[in-house]
Amino acid sequence: MRRSVTGVALAATVLCASCTDSPSVTPSAAPSSAAPAAPAVDYTAWQAGKSTLVADQLYPEHGNAGLDVLQYDLKLDWDPAEKVLTGTATLRIRPTAAAGEIKLDFATLTVDKVTVDDKPATGTLAEEKLTVPATLVADQPVTLVVDYHGAPKQVAFPSHRSDAKEGNGLRPATDGGAWTMQEPWGAMTWYPANELVSDKALYDIAVTVPKGWVAAAGGTPGPVEGNTYRYTSAVPTAAYLTTLAVDKYQKVEQAGPHGIKLTYFVVPKTDAKILPSLKKSPQMLTWLESMLGPFPFETGGALLNGSISAMETQQMVSIGRSVAGKWTKEDQAYFEEVLIHEYAHQWFGDTVTPSTWTDLWLNEGFAQYIQYLWEQKVQKFSDADLERFLRQRDAELRKKVGPPGKPDAAEFAESNVYICGAAMLKELNDALGDTKFFALMKAWVAEHKNTNQDRAAFIAFVDQNTGKDFSKLINNWLDSKITPK
Ligand SMILES: [Zn+2]
Repeated sequence: MRRSVTGVALAATVLCASCTDSPSVTPSAAPSSAAPAAPAVDYTAWQAGKSTLVADQLYPEHGNAGLDVLQYDLKLDWDPAEKVLTGTATLRIRPTAAAGEIKLDFATLTVDKVTVDDKPATGTLAEEKLTVPATLVADQPVTLVVDYHGAPKQVAFPSHRSDAKEGNGLRPATDGGAWTMQEPWGAMTWYPANELVSDKALYDIAVTVPKGWVAAAGGTPGPVEGNTYRYTSAVPTAAYLTTLAVDKYQKVEQAGPHGIKLTYFVVPKTDAKILPSLKKSPQMLTWLESMLGPFPFETGGALLNGSISAMETQQMVSIGRSVAGKWTKEDQAYFEEVLIHEYAHQWFGDTVTPSTWTDLWLNEGFAQYIQYLWEQKVQKFSDADLERFLRQRDAELRKKVGPPGKPDAAEFAESNVYICGAAMLKELNDALGDTKFFALMKAWVAEHKNTNQDRAAFIAFVDQNTGKDFSKLINNWLDSKITPK
């Protein structure tokens, strides 16, 4: 996510996150003992979606550490006239422990039908959770299918950032389109999801829209059949990193570094001016690759939406049109900084994801530091200037919102996790020199591709690869109430 543009914390709008609970859906037919057994499902193809689950200490009410979703197959239909989403979600789930129910994050929509392993089941929606009774055995995967529909509404964004007033999740646009921003959660507004940052899964998404409309989503774009748009994530993706947008898009394709297909979704009427900046993506990604190693996914790109923020959604970053401002020279430079930031996250955040939200600095500290290096390259300011700026902001932020390693649950993604995290990385860079520092960054990503990691793993990796003890430096920058010397 990009950091707040303004330092002014606006009062959060009170959002009604599905105040009305849907009644239970009862099975339409009782399972018959005479029914032939459903053919056994071969889950081998989805093993790449296996995760090491870690219960989240910061947001224990979201996600379920007892369920490892291996794959989500989402068949969606968006009706721009009615602003209604209709979906069938098929989830391949590996229970990590025996349990009597499947409990997932799901909000604001109505459940029409539920099956577990082809047998009718009951789905109850309450307090942003879908609960389905089922007999779960550890490591014996089950298939959950949920049919649903409704007008999506947003859920609360636990922060006072300037963009928190937008809320999180799928949002119908006034002209009939739709888009989503959903960190740390919000996927639950358009499909039943395990909103646990450590549960990465594979995705197959098919979205049908009326003629004249185009659906964009994260993952690798597949063939368009009629007005159905397909996207596949063949590598694990965390729920907060998925995206969906429906608009009267033009799809623009470009070859990225070493032939990576880049796709941009722009609305010609409003976004034509922005397209030349998007088309700088191959140079930007080549610059990022020189420091961080190969782009970690098979395709990339960006979509524009109605937000005032931007997100590093996997393989397809989501950027709000407002980020482009009035498209002055300064606005254009800022837009490109945001684009670099979200692209840097493809390495730091997307392919290597924190195990819990407590380590959000592992995402934002890195993306922000890379963004500053880009600004330094473009604006040609000195290293001493960057050092001075970082130390000054670091001191202000530690005083105002505390150290980056101990984030406040009510202040998700405050500037401290960005700027104080970046300041720590600058110290590490200065201590190691560019050659060793960037070799370390490349190795961190290459050796932890498609995984979740935490502070202890990062410190152990740095120490092992440098042969020096950097634990004091890193812990001090993450935990100290004042800027370390
Ligand atoms: Zn970010």
